[in-house]
Amino acid sequence: MSFESLGLSAELLRAVSEQGYTEPTAIQTQAIPMILEGQDLMAGAQTGTGKTAGFTLPLLQRMSEAAVDRKPRSVRALVLTPTRELAMQVAASIETYGRHLPHRSAVIFGGVKINPQISKLRQGVEVLVATPGRLLDHVQRGTIDLSQVEFLVLDEADRMLDMGFIHDIRRILKCLPARENRQNLLFSATFPKEIKQLASQYLNSPQLVEAARNNSTVELIEQRVHPVDKSRKREMLSHLIGAGYWKQVLVFTRTKHGANRLARQLEADGLSTTAIHGNKSQAARTRALSEFKQGTVRVLVATDIAARGLDIDQLPHVVNFDLPNVPEDYVHRIGRTGRAGNEGMAVSLVSPDESKLLRSIESLTGQEIPQQVLEGYEVTTRAQQENARNNHRKSSQRRRKPAQAKRHGRPAARKPATKPGYSSVASRCFAD
Ligand code: AMP
Repeated sequence: MSFESLGLSAELLRAVSEQGYTEPTAIQTQAIPMILEGQDLMAGAQTGTGKTAGFTLPLLQRMSEAAVDRKPRSVRALVLTPTRELAMQVAASIETYGRHLPHRSAVIFGGVKINPQISKLRQGVEVLVATPGRLLDHVQRGTIDLSQVEFLVLDEADRMLDMGFIHDIRRILKCLPARENRQNLLFSATFPKEIKQLASQYLNSPQLVEAARNNSTVELIEQRVHPVDKSRKREMLSHLIGAGYWKQVLVFTRTKHGANRLARQLEADGLSTTAIHGNKSQAARTRALSEFKQGTVRVLVATDIAARGLDIDQLPHVVNFDLPNVPEDYVHRIGRTGRAGNEGMAVSLVSPDESKLLRSIESLTGQEIPQQVLEGYEVTTRAQQENARNNHRKSSQRRRKPAQAKRHGRPAARKPATKPGYSSVASRCFAD
């Protein structure tokens, strides 16, 4: 299958070939002809499948085919995304794919000054990419007119619901023309019932397109679980990165605080690291991401929300330092690697208290993730942990009395006996 056979215009084909794409991905092959025909779409497309070009190319073409009289400040195509990072990436793709077409595009999101956005909107924007909160701000200020929207894209819709944007989305949809008068596209990695509900309310008898099975993980990604005690995860991570010569690693933690702490610890271990999460300013997030993409920083520690939509070409390693509470997040997280035909590895450091989360992930994805015990990092049993705690207590008492310890000829503190390394043993150590 070639891009030419999908019915795209010469301007778009030129942009695609300048990007070096030789053939459309599965989602592009399915979605592009349907969108060109004007159908609504509900697409189950995972991250890394090429879904952005899948909707951008046909939308730009449809916009070129039907020129309309517009009111000033009115928008023709609206793409809603859950995060600022994804908004920026989608906007960059629209610029790239539309570089030989005259449509003006813009991106708006919160966390930055609103005035430059107002000036940009005033100049007239046809394609707008936005996060819901800031878009509503503009609607309320009257700096944007959504009454002529012809094309609506809800990108990563499941994540927008997870992030609590449903009320904002409903308010935005009220400002749009009736659904019969617009083309609606909904992209989602997973399809919980709330998404189906949303689709039935706001889409016109949508065609269903699935690039891969629901909740399945990208096949090119090698997945692995390393069982480990919680207290030794950081040590194991430094070892994996160092011993494996990993050059670019995206690490997920559950909390912002955890991300900051881990970034500090990895730095102390000599690994250049930066953290990205919702408490950081937009400028800091953008800087961290660009340092990581350029390779000046080796490790990027991120929370789920901040990492949403990150598109890093050929990212080889993703690590789950903590397993996510929501199993669908596992699919999103590991989808950061193995993008667009590249191979990737997703490693999860799983402590015994996370065995339930691991089981939910495996039942969602329908596959058992291979486990590998690393030598020197075997999970300790409860009795061993108790012993270790007692030993620790004793040795800290001895540390507090160095003179006394010396008198009895004992060393003041002990060093761990084993040196960590790989073990070829693969075992299911969390089996019931
Ligand atoms: P997306 O799933 O839209 O985030 O795209 C993931 C990555 O795939 C991006 O880096 C795109 O540049 C790339 N991509 C999109 N379409 C193609 C294609 N047909 N061939 C090769 N790479 C592509």
